[in-house]
Amino acid sequence: MKRNSIPVVEPSMPPYEEYINEIKNLWDNRWLTHTGPKHQALENGLCEFLGVDNISLFANGHLALEIAINGLQLTGEIITTPFTFASTTQAIVRNKLTPVFCDINENDYTIDVTKIEELITENTSAILPVHVYGNICDVHKIEEIANKYNLKVIYDAAHAFGIKLGNTPVGNFGDVSMFSFHATKVFHTVEGGGLTYQDPKYKDIFAKIRQFGMEGQESVPIVGTNAKMTEIHAAMGLCNLRHITEEIAKRGLAMNRYRELLTGVKGIRLCEVQENVTPNYSYFPVLFNKDEFGKDRDEVADLLAKNNIFARKYFYPLTNGFSAYKDMFQIQETHIAKKIADNILTLPLYSDLSLEEVEQICKVILE
Ligand SMILES: *Cc1c(COP(=O)(O)O)cnc(C)c1O
Repeated sequence: MKRNSIPVVEPSMPPYEEYINEIKNLWDNRWLTHTGPKHQALENGLCEFLGVDNISLFANGHLALEIAINGLQLTGEIITTPFTFASTTQAIVRNKLTPVFCDINENDYTIDVTKIEELITENTSAILPVHVYGNICDVHKIEEIANKYNLKVIYDAAHAFGIKLGNTPVGNFGDVSMFSFHATKVFHTVEGGGLTYQDPKYKDIFAKIRQFGMEGQESVPIVGTNAKMTEIHAAMGLCNLRHITEEIAKRGLAMNRYRELLTGVKGIRLCEVQENVTPNYSYFPVLFNKDEFGKDRDEVADLLAKNNIFARKYFYPLTNGFSAYKDMFQIQETHIAKKIADNILTLPLYSDLSLEEVEQICKVILE
């Protein structure tokens, strides 16, 4: 398939017949939402694929994160990073808590663990780091700090589907990890999200918050919302899960071609490959240094757009620059995150991106 333009992301789709076949019995059983058989089957499939003991599914990743913060009864301040999608910080603020912004490290753009402790106050209740672009945070150091100060840890693992550190699947770190199953993510249910956790007691709390705070039909013991995953969405997940290994492998081929063509180019810096990590090839961020490369990030993005190739300034702007927060709380400056956000461009990457398209993109950048 030759396209007229190359988008930055493109959802994976299962074969049409497979999806139609998967949803057919909904016309018989009329069980469309509310932890139906497909929801349950998807929970089981995801526990197995993600190598976790517990998972809860939600309407989307953002609500899952809001519910994780709510369900763990966090209070006061949460230490997080501003180099992320709006969702991470908004989930904290929507819970009426204060985000405290920690800087990131220059190699893999995850939280700089040497700067966490100086941000801890008596009001800190948790750390909410991001496995950004599928790079795993320094989970061991974070665990050590959390234990020392008695803090909870929630990971934004929206980018980290299927990743492992050594033999440990990423969803096993911290108290809770949030995965996004949005259409543009490595694995998707169109819209959807999941929380994985070690302590099974959270299952019941998350289920109640997800269902209006209700317990059965007549008892409402806690405040809740509506964040259920439908059977139509779970069906998409069941189909996509059957093809996930192959989809990730195809992304890997495209990423390797990018790396071959762009490694060592003066003024271009690629994200460091983490040792001992099984990757999912979710994103391909590139850092441009105008002094050495001759063009800055915005100029490269414009040039690509002129050639009908759409890259994304992901993540720009930083969440600590959002006007929404201007008068809400004190905002910590994060110099490294700012430098990265001002110079980074995420290039197109998805399973159906051909090697020829990767070559075409690199040719535009390098000419
Ligand atoms: C996609 C994403 C989310 C939100 O997930 P949705 O499923 O779109 O609500 C949160 N954090 C990060 C880092 C993301 O990329």
